[in-house]
Amino acid sequence: MQIVTRSAQLLLDLLFPRKCVACKAEGAWICPQCQAAVAPKFLFEPVTPSIFGLFSMEEIVIREAVHALKYNSIYEAAYALVDTLALATTPQQLRTAWGVKSVQGAFVPVPVSNKRRKSRGYNQAELLAEAFSPWLGMPIEYHLLERAQGKTLVGSNRAQRQLQTFHAFALAENARVNAQTAYILIDDVVTTGSTLKVCRHVLREVGAQNVVGCAFAYRHLDNARDSHSFSG
Ligand SMILES: [Zn+2]
Repeated sequence: MQIVTRSAQLLLDLLFPRKCVACKAEGAWICPQCQAAVAPKFLFEPVTPSIFGLFSMEEIVIREAVHALKYNSIYEAAYALVDTLALATTPQQLRTAWGVKSVQGAFVPVPVSNKRRKSRGYNQAELLAEAFSPWLGMPIEYHLLERAQGKTLVGSNRAQRQLQTFHAFALAENARVNAQTAYILIDDVVTTGSTLKVCRHVLREVGAQNVVGCAFAYRHLDNARDSHSFSG
């Protein structure tokens, strides 16, 4: 099985050579030089006391890797991002910051709508959670939250979007939270934090005591104009 996987990977590398999303050097989605350059810019920006962004979207490496993950089906960009994070911090530090040091923790990827999952074929937040999971040694709860079916947010005004976001997430049918578990909501980009706030609210309403939101990239509101697809 491993040999087959390795051969398949070699073939894939031949057909679609990995190129650094930022400097285009061949060999990796984020090359070692770009990883080393961006890692010291790890910021752990609090949007609220319970919601964080790990790196700025202003960093071209981060922006391009998130874009590749979100729009170009480059699943491995999630691992490249987490590998970059691993140069900046340690699992122990993250666990402490997330409040999961003395309790068990679990990742909860922010769900995308069924429509978007169909058109895109995947949920980028799940891919990020899958890259985080082995590094942090924490499982993923795939079926805790679900997305209510609604209209697309693009084109609505701000108040309408906020209202839609508020009704966009729900606890999945038959799902339960464990009050002793610290839940780490994972998303790709955070701007106002509205999406993560609503997801956090849903979990806390049903008894989760420790819920934090974490997005890989933090986009400052001033830079979020005309980019609703990236906001939330
Ligand atoms: Zn590079």
